[in-house]
Amino acid sequence: MTQGQPAARPGTAGGAAWRQLRLEQVTRRFGSSDALADLDLTIERGEFIALLGPSGCGKSTALNCLAGLLPLSRGSIWRDDTRLDTLPAERRGFGMVFQNYALFPHMSVRGNVAFGLKMQRRPRAEVARRTDEAIRLVRLEEHAGKLPGQLSGGQQQRVAIARAVVLEPSLVLMDEPLSNLDAMLRLEMRTEIRRLHQSLGLTTVYVTHDQEEALSMSDRLVVLRNGRVQQIGTPEQVHTQPANRHVAGFMGYRNILPMRAVAGNVVEGDGLRLTGTAVGTVSSGDSVEVAIRPEDVHLGHGIPVTVGVVEYQGREVAAEVHTAGGVRLHLRTGKGLRPGDQAEVALDPDRLLIFPIVPEDA
Ligand code: ATP
Repeated sequence: MTQGQPAARPGTAGGAAWRQLRLEQVTRRFGSSDALADLDLTIERGEFIALLGPSGCGKSTALNCLAGLLPLSRGSIWRDDTRLDTLPAERRGFGMVFQNYALFPHMSVRGNVAFGLKMQRRPRAEVARRTDEAIRLVRLEEHAGKLPGQLSGGQQQRVAIARAVVLEPSLVLMDEPLSNLDAMLRLEMRTEIRRLHQSLGLTTVYVTHDQEEALSMSDRLVVLRNGRVQQIGTPEQVHTQPANRHVAGFMGYRNILPMRAVAGNVVEGDGLRLTGTAVGTVSSGDSVEVAIRPEDVHLGHGIPVTVGVVEYQGREVAAEVHTAGGVRLHLRTGKGLRPGDQAEVALDPDRLLIFPIVPEDA
């Protein structure tokens, strides 16, 4: 929908060059509650950004504000020096892919992909060329003449993606585009979307509640909770240095234990005394929560435990164990464990994160 702009060269999607898209204090209220509050985010051209968080955290609200489908209650959106939030959706030049693909059922794959270009009244030869190119990119050449109803879910999703990218949008917005697909197809499409992003030089904002999807696809993640940003960082930063206990919980730190600090890096509770790494300021006597991933709880010399539930997971088992003081821990190990076994576990102090409990954060 980049009306009046010249067609972009491959790898320069988005027509005229731009550098940054900025969201400043973007806020959207529904009644008396903020579905999204004060979102500040600068997206560099070419980035793949994932908006991640649990259901109801404001991901779709953020995407819809960006798309122009929801007016902002406060804040502004900029593409370099051009203010976008005051423009209607169709003049922002964004492409959208949603979970219900919303394809035209009576049009062939080719018709669906060509539709936007025809609406832009592009010359017939250009429509044909760009449509063919987009269909080739999503590898649907053999299905170009079929109707959406004759395609699998994954193929329909690829049509939806082709329909968006054929317009060479300055930004592609995707809202849980893979949620209707089975596990195998989701994996395949992840790679496909990332490949398209790279080969077309797209800038992508991708909403998901699946942290694995977000970690594997994005350059940076924005983790939301209750409409507020919890952390913005690379997958590695968010994964290894979660900013708070909510992000930790969301990023697979399955063991989260309430304890009391006896020094900056030492905590006690339920008969355990553990050494970890404080995230933020922790003083002796503070109530804290410690977080550690199952894969960082190792069998070895340390805390005596009794093995409870054991789940087979291919190369490894996931086990729940408990200490004499009643603390339950989840661990993963390649060693065989059976319910009722006695074992000892050690927790890696570098990987055991100690979070202060912040009142407004509760
Ligand atoms: P999900 O993963 O379940 O789609 P989400 O993170 O995308 O969730 P949003 O759809 O952005 O969450 O919703 C954020 C909050 O705003 C929720 O509490 C939701 O109930 C509320 N909300 C969203 N749309 C409206 C609306 N039109 N009217 C009132 N409240 C709304």
